[in-house]
Amino acid sequence: MADVKRIAVVGAGTMGHGIAQVAAMAGYDAVLTDASEAALDTALLRIRENLDGAVERAKLTAKQAHDAANHLGFEPDVDRAVRHADLIIEAVVEDLDTKRKLFARVSAVSPKAILATNTSSLSVAGIAAGAAYPERVVGMHFFNPVHIMRLVEIVPHGGTDAAVTTQATDIARRMGKDPIVVRDTPGFASSRLGVVLGLEAMRMVEQGVASAEDIDKAMELGYGHPMGPLKVTDLVGLDVRLAIADYLHRELKDERYAAPDILRRMVSAGDLGKKSGKGFYDWPATT
Ligand code: NAD
Repeated sequence: MADVKRIAVVGAGTMGHGIAQVAAMAGYDAVLTDASEAALDTALLRIRENLDGAVERAKLTAKQAHDAANHLGFEPDVDRAVRHADLIIEAVVEDLDTKRKLFARVSAVSPKAILATNTSSLSVAGIAAGAAYPERVVGMHFFNPVHIMRLVEIVPHGGTDAAVTTQATDIARRMGKDPIVVRDTPGFASSRLGVVLGLEAMRMVEQGVASAEDIDKAMELGYGHPMGPLKVTDLVGLDVRLAIADYLHRELKDERYAAPDILRRMVSAGDLGKKSGKGFYDWPATT
């Protein structure tokens, strides 16, 4: 299998900008694309802020940050962005049909690339069904914020070529991550567990058991979690969490994944967490 040198990341939101950043920091030529030019502009600001912050905290030298920026490109045209990529990582909305159509499109434009999906929960086999070459499709599930969280779930589906799984694992390591390989089942290892905790915490807020802050504190101080489940939900995005919960509820037929009313109400009201400025917490405006 050919060496991966150029990585295209499709979707420049919460996850995509971070994936492009860590790819560039690992020395890959990374190009970021999005259907929305505004999302690309925001991604550029966020990456700049992340790199500057890393230099200020002496996590990176100025030269390393400069080199990473030089390895990074922004291309509003999706077809042009993926055309010469060896690996295409999609981080668009958590919707099977959107991801399947995207893989059908990019696999036609770039017939030799490996296609990785950053889905948090959806069937990788289902997404691969849209691709011209499903054997080169694999899940690469990064965590938020991508430049900080070390886990990547590598999710081969039944038809993924073993060499593709190995290559995706090696690439995640080169990006400084600690990959685990998980079978293609709804929610993999991380979301399947994490969503149960998040939804139960929301039900507890709904029932007035304690404030969001104190429920989070219970897990942080009592169980040693670095961040409570409601703060995590705010960072993930309540809309993303809801999409995952609905999918897991449908697929696993388990009431633990039934989204509580409070989550549906907050999403309908546009309270999506950090990205909208308000979720279970208030978030001051940043990029
Ligand atoms: P987001 O809403 O922040 O960003 C999605 C971006 O994709 C948007 O900028 C949108 O314009 C773009 N987009 C949508 N359809 C497109 C298309 N067809 N072509 C090009 N661009 C398109 O979403 P996110 O939170 O970054 O989530 C992206 C994926 O990553 C989802 O599958 C999600 O489940 C997964 N994920 C999210 C998190 C998290 O914490 N938010 C963590 C791990 C995985």
